[in-house]
Amino acid sequence: MIDLHTHTYYSDGSLSPVELIDMAEQAGIKQLAISDHDSIDGLLSLELLPEKLRVIPSVEISTNYGKQGLHILGLNIDTNNQALQSFLKQQQKNRKQRALQIANKLVDAGVEHALDDVSFLVDSQPMVCRTHIAQLLLEQGYVKKFSDAFKKYLAKGGKAHIKDDWFAIEDVISIIKSAGGQAVIAHPMRYGMGANKLKSLIEDFKALGGDGIEICYPNIHPGHKNLLATWAKTFKLCGSQGSDFHNPDKSWVKLGKFAPLPDDVEPVWTRW
Ligand code: AMP
Ligand code: MN
Ligand code: MN
Ligand code: MN
Repeated sequence: MIDLHTHTYYSDGSLSPVELIDMAEQAGIKQLAISDHDSIDGLLSLELLPEKLRVIPSVEISTNYGKQGLHILGLNIDTNNQALQSFLKQQQKNRKQRALQIANKLVDAGVEHALDDVSFLVDSQPMVCRTHIAQLLLEQGYVKKFSDAFKKYLAKGGKAHIKDDWFAIEDVISIIKSAGGQAVIAHPMRYGMGANKLKSLIEDFKALGGDGIEICYPNIHPGHKNLLATWAKTFKLCGSQGSDFHNPDKSWVKLGKFAPLPDDVEPVWTRW
C-alpha cells in the first residue's frame, strides 16, 4: 500500500499532517507522500515521524509548459534544501498575488465582498488555493455546486479566470533534482491536452531530466492508464501512483485506492 500524492490543510486539504498520517496508518498505507501544493510547511511541522509508515517528503509544484498550467510532483525531496525552500516562498508569494487578482475579477463579476473575503483568507491561512475561493462562492450562494464555482468563475473560460503564469517546467525539474527528489508529472490526463501534445510533453519532460509520470490515480480511464504505461516505457520513465486525497468527505477518493501499477513499469519508489 503506497500512496504518493496527498494534501493537508497546509494547501487545500482539510486534515492536519498528523490526522492524515493517522488515517493512512489505519488504511494500511506503508509509504505516504505528503505533497501539498507549493508548500513543505506541513512536513516541516511534523515533530515526530510515525513508526508504522514511511512518510515520503514531497511537494506538488504548479508550473507552466508553454501556456499550459501543469502540476509536477517532487517526491522524496530534502525539505531542508535552501534552494527549494526559497523557490517555494516565491511560489507562495505568487499565489497570494494571484488570489487577490482573482478576487478583483470576482468583484467585477458582481461578487461584492470577494476582495475583503479573499484578503482575509490570504492573511489568515497557510495558503489560498482556488479550492478555498470556490468554497466561499458556494457558501455565499453564488453557485449551487462546488464544481460550478470552477465552471462559472475560476476555470478557463470563467469570469474570474487568471491565466497560468508559473515557472517553466525546466526550472521546476531542476529545483526538484537539486533537492534530491524525483520529478513526476501529476495526473497527466486531467489537463485536457490532446494525445499528441501530451506525448510531446512527456518526451520533453524526460529530455529535461524528469523521472516519471503518475499513471495510477482514482477514476483514470483504463485505456488512458495503459497509454501512459506505454509512454513511460517508450521514454524510460518511472511510474507513480497516488490518490490526490484532499478531504475525507470526498467519499470517492480514498487513501491508497486506485488500480495497481502495471508490472512492466518501473515503480518510482525503487529509486529510494
Ligand atoms: P490552484 O492550485 O489554486 O489552482 O487550485 C487547484 C486545485 O483546485 C486543484 O488541486 C484541485 O484540488 C481543485 N480543482 C481544480 N479544478 C477543479 C474543478 N474543476 N472542480 C473541483 N476542484 C477543482
Ligand atoms: Mn488541490
Ligand atoms: Mn494537482
Ligand atoms: Mn494534488
